[in-house]
Amino acid sequence: MHNIIATCKNQEKTNLLGLSPTKMIDFFASIGEKQFRASQVLQWIHQRGIDCFSEMTNLSKSLRDKLTTIAMVQPPKVSYFKESTDGTCKWIIQVTSGSLVEAVYIPENDRGTLCVSSQAGCALDCSFCSTGKQGFNSNLSSSEIIGSLWIANKHLAQLKQPKKVTNVVFMGMGEPLMNFDNVVDSMQLMMHDLAYGLSKRKVTLSTSGVVPALLKLADYTNASLAISLHAGTDELRNQLVPINRKYPLKQLIAAVKHYMDSLSDSKRVVTIEYTLLAGINDLPEHAKSVAKLLKNIPCKINLIPFNQFPGSDYQRPSNNAIHRFQRSLVEQGFYVTIRKTRGDEINAACGQLVGSIEDKTKRNQRHLQKLASKTTKNAETITF
Ligand code: SAH
Ligand code: SF4
Repeated sequence: MHNIIATCKNQEKTNLLGLSPTKMIDFFASIGEKQFRASQVLQWIHQRGIDCFSEMTNLSKSLRDKLTTIAMVQPPKVSYFKESTDGTCKWIIQVTSGSLVEAVYIPENDRGTLCVSSQAGCALDCSFCSTGKQGFNSNLSSSEIIGSLWIANKHLAQLKQPKKVTNVVFMGMGEPLMNFDNVVDSMQLMMHDLAYGLSKRKVTLSTSGVVPALLKLADYTNASLAISLHAGTDELRNQLVPINRKYPLKQLIAAVKHYMDSLSDSKRVVTIEYTLLAGINDLPEHAKSVAKLLKNIPCKINLIPFNQFPGSDYQRPSNNAIHRFQRSLVEQGFYVTIRKTRGDEINAACGQLVGSIEDKTKRNQRHLQKLASKTTKNAETITF
C-alpha cells in the first residue's frame, strides 16, 4: 500500500495536487510557462496518477527540473486500508493536522461510489452523528480532499479485480459547506475533463443546511445536491440538527430552490437524506410533516436507518417502522429509497471506522441487522 503513496516531502514547495484547473494555469503563468503546460500536468497527476515530475515525459527536461525544485505532488498519508468481503473499501487518511479522516468506496453493478471527507471532525454537532461527537478539528485542504480520490483510483486499479471510481459523494466526515473554498476547488477537479471528468450528476455535495454557503454554491458549481433533512418541522430539527436554529427550514427550503433553479435543467432533483431514529422521527406524523414540507421540491428521498455507535443515544428503527415510513411517503407521490448497509465488517458507515481504529475493542457495526430488500414501483433499496 505505502509504495503507491507519493514520496515528496518538502513543505516549502507548492503542492500541485489540490490546485483547481484555474489555479494550475495561474501557477504556470507565475513561473513564466504557457497554459498548455497546466493541462499536461493536470492530466499526468489526475488521469495517470503520476506524482513525480521526472515521469512527466512530455514536459521539457528543464521544466521537469524546475518543477522538482519548486513544486510537488503530495497526497495525504494512508494510515489504514481494508477491503470488505462485499468489495467495499475503506481508507483511513492522516491529514496535516494529524487527525484521521476516512474515505469509503462502495462498488455496485455499474458504478463505484467514493464517499469523501471534507473536515476532520465537525462543529455542527448533529445529535446522532459520531463525527459530530468528535467536535471540529480541522478543514481538509483541497489536496487532502482530492487526494482521497487520487489515492482511491490508484489503489483500486492495483487490486486483483481492478475497479474505478465513477461517482463521488461528500458524505464522509465533516460539513463541506463549512470548508467552502477547498471543497469547491476539489469539486472542480473531480468534474474537469483534464482531471477526473465526472459529470455534474456524479458528484454530490451533502449538507446539513449552511444556508449562506448554499446560496453562493450555485455561483461555483452545478454538481448534485443532497440535503440532510431528518425532520419536517423546526421544533424537531432544532433538536437533531442544531444548525437549524440558525437557519430554519423556511430559509433552507428557499436556498434549495435557489440552487435547483440555478441548474437550468428541469430534470435535476435534490436528494433528501433522512436518518431514521426509532421513536424520534420515524412515526406517521413525521412522514406527514416531511411530505408537506417537500411538496413543491423536485426531490428523491433517501432514508438512512440509524447506524448505531458506542455512546449513541438513539436506536435504529425496526424494519417494519422503516418500511412503514417509506410507504407513507411513497403514497404521497415521492420516490423513496432506503440506504442499504454495506461493508459492515470494516465499519464502512460514515464516521465510524476512525472511532473503531482509535478503540479496537469496538465492533459496533458487525451485528447490525441488514435491511430486507424491497422493490416496488416507487421504492427500492440502494446504497447511495
Ligand atoms: N455534513 C454533511 C455530510 C456528512 S454526513 C451532512 O450532514 O450532510 C452524511 C450523512 O450521514 C448525513 O445525511 C448525516 O446526517 C448522516 N449520518 C450521520 N451520522 C449518522 C448515523 N449515525 N446514522 C445514519 N446516518 C448518519
Ligand atoms: Fe457534521 Fe454532517 Fe455529522 Fe451533522 S451529520 S455533525 S453536519 S458531519
